[in-house]
Amino acid sequence: MRTPFIVGNWKMNLTLHEVEEFLDAVKGNLPDPKEVECAIAASSIYMDVLTRFCKEETNLKTAAQNCFYKDSGAYTGEVSPMALADMGVNYVMLGHSERRKYFGETNKMINKKVKAVLANNMVPIICCDETMAKRKTYDEMNWVVNPVIEALKGISEDDAKKIVIGYEPSWAIGTGKSASGAEVQEACFLIRETLKDLYGDDIANQIRIVYGGSVNARNVSEIMSQDDVDGVLPGKSSLKAKEFIKIVNYQN
Ligand code: 13P
Repeated sequence: MRTPFIVGNWKMNLTLHEVEEFLDAVKGNLPDPKEVECAIAASSIYMDVLTRFCKEETNLKTAAQNCFYKDSGAYTGEVSPMALADMGVNYVMLGHSERRKYFGETNKMINKKVKAVLANNMVPIICCDETMAKRKTYDEMNWVVNPVIEALKGISEDDAKKIVIGYEPSWAIGTGKSASGAEVQEACFLIRETLKDLYGDDIANQIRIVYGGSVNARNVSEIMSQDDVDGVLPGKSSLKAKEFIKIVNYQN
């Protein structure tokens, strides 16, 4: 019912030459999008090269890693959601923990960005952080649930269906220490219950929830086998085409 979704988040890595090498290497090696939908979240400077590639290699989708909440204007250095959509970008990641930590992004800003991305007919991938301290105290309001509620304020049922939620505990990001399958399921279950409260069972069951934090070719199958997990967001292990190909073909 929910197509598995795997998004490689390159973060601020790779040169243009390396991007071209990666794309050459994945050509013809990606699964049928009806089985597993694959995307690359790249720096906005590579969106043009990526969207051109994806017109030929239709098994790959494009994602931006961020955008601003206005379509145009005097916002030096920002990336327009309208321009991304015009280029053919499919998804925009919003609220990654690195954006929250280094660039001061708040739930309020993320909510505005969610609306701007939807208004431009792209799909937001809303990332929710979770610190180890919060998990230990099991404070549900401040745990993974609160950022989801805040990001979805004012979002209609029709739009909510399309959205992807990313559960990304910062203690698992870039540490080589992935959350276990059971830990991922626990958080994703809680997120789905929250979505049920907000939109009802039918819509909540259509929303994809993906996990990010030290995913690699070895642990992807265990994580993907969890009931409420619909995909993964590998960071470091998506930088090498060989490992990304293994991850997206985890069913074989
Ligand atoms: P790592 O896979 O490098 O831990 O990064 C995950 C991530 O931040 C995905 O958005």
